[in-house]
This record gives sequence, structure tokens and C-alpha cells, in this order.
Amino acid sequence: MLFCSEVHDLPSFPTAESNRTAGAATVAVGPSRGVLKRSTASAAPRGVNPKQAAVPKTVGVGASRRKPWDLKGKVNDMEDKIRNFQTKARSVNEEMEALKGSLSHSQSRVSQLEKEVEQQRSQISKYEIELQALSHVRQELEKVSSDKSFLQKELSNLEEKYKVMETLRDSQETELQALKMKLSVQESTMTRLQSTLRDREEEVHSLKEMVAEQKEELHSGEMERRRLHNTIQELKGNIRVFCRVRPLVSGGLSKHIQLPASDDKSIVLAKTEESHTGKVADTQKNYNFSFDRVFGPQASQQEIFEEISLLVQSALDGYNVCVFAYGQTGSGKTYTMEGEEYDDTRGVIPRAVQQVFKAGQKLAAQGWEFTFTASFVEIYNETLRDLLYTGKASKRPEHEIRKMASNEVTVTNLTYEKVYTEDQVQGLIAVAKRNRSTAQTSQNDRSSRSHSVFQLHIEGVNGGRDVTCKSTLCLVDLAGSERMMKSQSQGDRFKEMTAINSSLSNLGIVITSLANKESHIPYRNSKLTYLLQGCLGGNSKTLMFVNISPESDSFGETLNSLRFASKVSDASSCLMQKKFNAISVLRKKAKNKYILTVNLSMFLSEYVLS
Ligand code: ADP
Ligand code: MG
Repeated sequence: MLFCSEVHDLPSFPTAESNRTAGAATVAVGPSRGVLKRSTASAAPRGVNPKQAAVPKTVGVGASRRKPWDLKGKVNDMEDKIRNFQTKARSVNEEMEALKGSLSHSQSRVSQLEKEVEQQRSQISKYEIELQALSHVRQELEKVSSDKSFLQKELSNLEEKYKVMETLRDSQETELQALKMKLSVQESTMTRLQSTLRDREEEVHSLKEMVAEQKEELHSGEMERRRLHNTIQELKGNIRVFCRVRPLVSGGLSKHIQLPASDDKSIVLAKTEESHTGKVADTQKNYNFSFDRVFGPQASQQEIFEEISLLVQSALDGYNVCVFAYGQTGSGKTYTMEGEEYDDTRGVIPRAVQQVFKAGQKLAAQGWEFTFTASFVEIYNETLRDLLYTGKASKRPEHEIRKMASNEVTVTNLTYEKVYTEDQVQGLIAVAKRNRSTAQTSQNDRSSRSHSVFQLHIEGVNGGRDVTCKSTLCLVDLAGSERMMKSQSQGDRFKEMTAINSSLSNLGIVITSLANKESHIPYRNSKLTYLLQGCLGGNSKTLMFVNISPESDSFGETLNSLRFASKVSDASSCLMQKKFNAISVLRKKAKNKYILTVNLSMFLSEYVLS
């Protein structure tokens, strides 16, 4: 028991755990082994070197065991052991101190190393930042180097271009030199041309003056032509009558109509009366008529128009013109006025319109500007109907003839269509035809019992000279002139017949009264003359076609027509006679006025006396 407590009081040795933490662990093991060895050695006497003391021990092994009574020896042994342990403890402590010193040294070294590591780390993070910056720089560098290569390419391109440009510049310089040479040549040419131009300008100036003079002359010539044309027309007669004989359907001419070959102004209607007894030869009665012109069955539409075209010219010159077609139904009135579609068979209306448009265009060169307005009206039973109406039949308006303050006549609600081309006029004629055909029934050939009046209103302005002209060209296809036995006509037919008879006879009266220069002209007695009032009389030109049917059964009607036309013609001749007398008086008075005499004799010989 004592032994154990003594052992516990001894300084503690490092444990196996503490030995593991320090390198000195191995040092501590030695003494523990050594304890056992020294325990034997501790038996050596105090003050003796253990090595020396060991010898007596080994000598006295058998004697190391103290006798139970040798307490002193045992105490000595114990004291040796204690001393041994103390020495050992001291060396262990020394060793521990040394280890402690080396530990603190190691610890300071560790903290120094940690500091160093920390420094290294901060250095590394610095380097990392720098590295990052450097990678940016590297990217920049790469970009710059790619830019550089691009720019180098550009540069080489530009260099090539520059070379090309240089060659171009060289060639252009040579060209420039050549052009400079040319320019100097052309400059000298230009100076030459400029002087020529000045000459030409002077020439142009004098030519312009000449043109202006000639325009003036042309205008006065045109006015003179108008005057002379009108004189000729007046000398020919302001009222003229032409006769046109339609060919037989089979062609040629029947015997009862004779056209003397010697002149184109006479027509003879021969009636053979058979002897009732048969013993005497048949007798023949001739009716002679003469007119301003007689056209046989062979006369073409063109020939007919040649005569009328002079009147159309008058219309353009500012004179009113009326052309009538008179005759029984089927005698060729519509054929004469409208004709058929084909060129050769076209009648007076389309030809007149064509001439008017052409002349208008020609006169435009002399500063004339024309406007043409067309109207087409039908007079049936003394009622007016618009043949150019295109609206609903139920809304067809009524018309009234009104006389304006300017003495012009106008029709209310009538279509007045501005026309610019011949085709347009052809279109209007077609509209008129359609309007007429809708009005007639199979029992009622209305067109033969109505008058159709085509009017072309002409207005010319010569702005530069402040001259105007205004006229109307009237082309009238009259109702059939055949008379019916009163007993045969009843109701509507009687009314129609009366209307036609009275208007036709009134037309005859109006024309003869005009020819006779009567003070009162009965225009108002019929719608036809009232409508045409402004276009008849005064300086107006009137032409009446009397159309004749050649068939022998039309003899009576033909005779009537020729008699009617004769009356008009006679009145016109009477007027002409008066004019001749006036002219001869003038001639006598103007003996010394050479020009007037020459002009008059020229007209008389050329147009009137021939
Ligand atoms: P109106 O108008 O006087 O009743 P039209 O002009 O209708 O008569 O003529 C009757 C017929 O005779 C028509 O078929 C027409 O073509 C024909 N005709 C009239 N005059 C001539 C002529 N000069 N040459 C040939 N045919 C004609
Ligand atoms: Mg007809």
C-alpha cells in the first residue's frame, strides 16, 4: 500500500496522448522502461555510481532480497528508488522545458508562417486582379490586332484604288487636255455662231414683223373673203330652191319626168292624156319648172353637198343658214338630210358638221376659237319634242319657244349639247333616230308626219382682234307634203294632216314674204317658223330642197311639190331682180370707181350670169 501511494505522488509523466502531440513522446518511454531496470539498480548503495553499484547487485542477486528484518536496508532501497525517480523526474522536467521552448518556438514559427501565408494569399489575390486586368488588356490587344489586320487590308485596298485612280486621273488629264483643245475650237466657233445668230435674230425679227404684217393681211383677207363670199351668196340668192329627183327603185327615171340635158336648172313634168275616142293622137301636157339647180337621179350625195358647202361656209362666217328638205313621203328628204351610214351615202347633216369642224380648226391658226352647240327637235302636231332627250320617258319635259331680248329664240328644257367631234354629232343623230323610233308605232310612221330640226349653234371669237361671230346652221327634214283627201282622214290623222298642211304652207308664206320684203312676216303662225325665226330673213341664207318621187303614180304630188317650190323660187327671183336693178344703178353711179366695177362684173359674170 505505501508503495502505491508513493508512486501516485510522483510527478506525472506525459500520457500516451500528450506523447502523440509532441515529438518528445519517445523520450518519455525510455525512462518508463528504465524505471524497471533502475529498480534493480536502486538497490546500489547511496553515493555509489550506479554503474559501479550494479556490480555488487549482480554479485549479490541472491543477496538483494533483504531479510524481513532488514528494515534499514529496505528503507535505503526505497530512498535509492526515490532518488532515482527524482533524478528521472528532473530530467523529464528538463526535457519538458526543452520541449515547451521548442513548442513556443514552433508556435511563433507557425504564426510567422501563417502571416507569411496570409501575405502570400493577399499577394495572390492582388496577382489575380492584375491577371484579370491583364486578360482585359489581352482581349483589347486581340481586338486591336484584328482591327489592325482589317485596317491593313483596307489600306491595301485603298492603295490599289489609289493606283487605279491615279491611272484614271492620268487618262482624264489627257482627256481634259483634248477637251480644252476642243473647247478652244468650239469657243471660236461659238463666237462665229454668235455673230451669225445676231444676224439671224435680226432676220427673225424682220420676219416676225413680216409675219405680223401678213397675219394682218391674212385677217383682212379673211374678212374680205367673207364679205365677197357673202356677196356671191347674195348674188346667187339669199333664198334658193334646188330640186332633187330620186331614182326609181329599179333605177333610171320614168318618162313623165324630163331633165333637159342643156342645163341643170330645168325640169319638165309631162302628162300624156290618152284620146278617149282613140281616133285622135294622145295629147301631152308639159309643166315646165326652173330652179336654182336641178339634180337628177344620178346625183351623188357629194355633188349635192358641194352646193350646200358654200352655205355652210357662210354659217361659219357668221350668217344664219337654213336648209329645208320638202317633198312627199318617200321622195328622199331624210336620205338628203341625214343619208346613210357609209361615207358615200352620208347626207347633208354629217357632211356639214364635218366641214364646220374642219374649217373651225383651220381658222384656229388665225386666232379664232369656235364653240359648237347642237340641238335636235321634232315638231309633231305643233308640239315640240326633244330628240336628244335621254332621261325617263315618264319624265319627258314640255317645251316652249321663247324669244329673248336679243331677238334670239330659245326652247325651254331642250338639250343643247356642246359638240367637239364629228363622231359626237353622229352619236347625237343616232340618239335622235332612237327617240323618233320609240315615238312611232307600226300604224304610225310618225317621222313622215313631223318636222325634225337639227340646229348647230356656232360661236366664234378672235380674242386677239376682239372680233366675234355668231350664227346658226339649221338643217330641217320637213314632214311629208302629200295631201290626203279630207274624206279619208279622220280623228288623229285629220289633226296631223291639218297641222302639217298649215305649217308647210306657212313656211312657204314666210319665205315668200321675206323675199317680197313684206313688213309683216307671219312667223308666229306655226311652231316651225317661230322656232326658225332668227335664222330666216335678214342676211340669212335659205335653201329649199324639193325632193321628187319619180314614180308615175306620184305625178300629182310631184306637181304639187314643184308648184310650191316654184312659188318660193319665184319670190326669190323677184328679190334677185330687185337686187340686179340696184346693182346696175350702182354700176352707173360708180363708173369711175374702177375697183367696184371690176368686182361687180367679175361676180356677175362668174356666179350670176353663167
Ligand atoms: P323621205 O324621208 O322623204 O320619206 P327617204 O329619204 O326615207 O324619204 O327615202 C325613201 C327611200 O328612198 C329610202 O329607202 C332611201 O334610201 C331611198 N332614196 C331616197 N333618195 C335616194 C337617192 N337619191 N338615191 C338612192 N336612194 C334614195
Ligand atoms: Mg323621212
